[in-house]
Amino acid sequence: MPHSISILGATGSIGASTLDLIRREPGRWRVVALTANSQAAELARLAREFSAEVAVVADESCLADLRAVLAGSGIEAAGGAEALLEAARRPAAITVAAIVGCAGLAATMAAIEQGGVIALANKEALVSAGEVMKASVMRHGATLLPMDSEHNAIFQCLAGNDIAHVRSITLTASGGPLRTWNAAQLAAATREQALRHPNWDMGAKITIDSATMFNKGLELIEAHHLFPVGLDKLKIVVHPQSVVHSMVEYRDGSTLAQLGPSDMRVPIASCLGWPARMDTPCAPLDLAALGELTFCAPNEELFPATRLCRQAAEAGGAAALVLNAANEVAVAAFLSGQIGFTRIAVMVEKTMSRFGPAAPTSLEAVIALDAEARVHARALLELA
Ligand code: NDP
Repeated sequence: MPHSISILGATGSIGASTLDLIRREPGRWRVVALTANSQAAELARLAREFSAEVAVVADESCLADLRAVLAGSGIEAAGGAEALLEAARRPAAITVAAIVGCAGLAATMAAIEQGGVIALANKEALVSAGEVMKASVMRHGATLLPMDSEHNAIFQCLAGNDIAHVRSITLTASGGPLRTWNAAQLAAATREQALRHPNWDMGAKITIDSATMFNKGLELIEAHHLFPVGLDKLKIVVHPQSVVHSMVEYRDGSTLAQLGPSDMRVPIASCLGWPARMDTPCAPLDLAALGELTFCAPNEELFPATRLCRQAAEAGGAAALVLNAANEVAVAAFLSGQIGFTRIAVMVEKTMSRFGPAAPTSLEAVIALDAEARVHARALLELA
């Protein structure tokens, strides 16, 4: 029997890497739902290639285009927020949650409701919904597999061990494209410079997050939810080569690390094949050719994002939700040329200091607070 799979965010970078692996194993997979926001033509092409049951564009104004390209294919076409949730609720053995931003939260929660395996790339959803998402996973008997490369590495390093014996967990960070820049250079960094990641080929939002180090900060919060060892045991180290994807140190002094090429198909395959292993086309690591792996402490004066994220995790309540919403607004503003690079962290910090609501206890409350936090962040943009 083929495994059934749905991919939320099929037209994105994670979607493409996932579909690349599926394409290599004809007959193993049955594609249930493929979704996108507005790239109707690309989504239709993928839905036809993989004989999906349903294709959904979240932006309903793109539905006519989707329908036109899928006409006569027998593939259902749907559009809008409700259609996205309906598709996410269709039974699938594994759902890849790869929509970018908190916009992916409701669909991820809908997928959780069907109690299957959720391979989570959409870190903003977990950062924003935290306990609400974890409670839903428990309630519906779903399995959350971390697809983010660092968390997938930690998951692999924890396998077969008791988490009570963990002394520390270290997330590695490439440092992004602006790692070696000084304060003046960072203040003048352009969109193109910040989008030029040295190691990873990813969507625009996460690439900017990587340049500011918010990506690592969001991952710290994500790790805090996924691996309950306590915030004081979660560390970050800069490792420019992106070969060691994270590490777990145990009480006896042993440190286990997961190494691999900087290619998301490795952690994606780890989720798709779980609990077994599957092939990827990635070239094997050649450590002798690499020569050296280097590590250094993050510079939180130049890149304050990790400090802000740790503060948000420590504060609890809705602090991480507010941080994430403000960061999404600020990154969009940077990408559209509205604010400079270093203003991203400034805007996030200011939004957090002005808006400190209590922890939300339902999905609806998370979505409402996220919207409210964005209003606060946008008001700051107007003042900027
Ligand atoms: P991309 O920007 O490449 O793709 C995003 C996907 O989400 C697209 O399919 C897009 O559709 C869809 N989408 C965007 N906005 C909405 C919306 N409002 N409603 C519904 N769907 C929407 O992102 P990535 O693949 O880079 O990242 C996806 C997630 O995975 C992020 O949370 C990121 O942090 C995480 N991640 C990514 C990694 C990577 O290597 N790329 C690594 C680790 C984690 P459309 O194409 O129509 O716009």
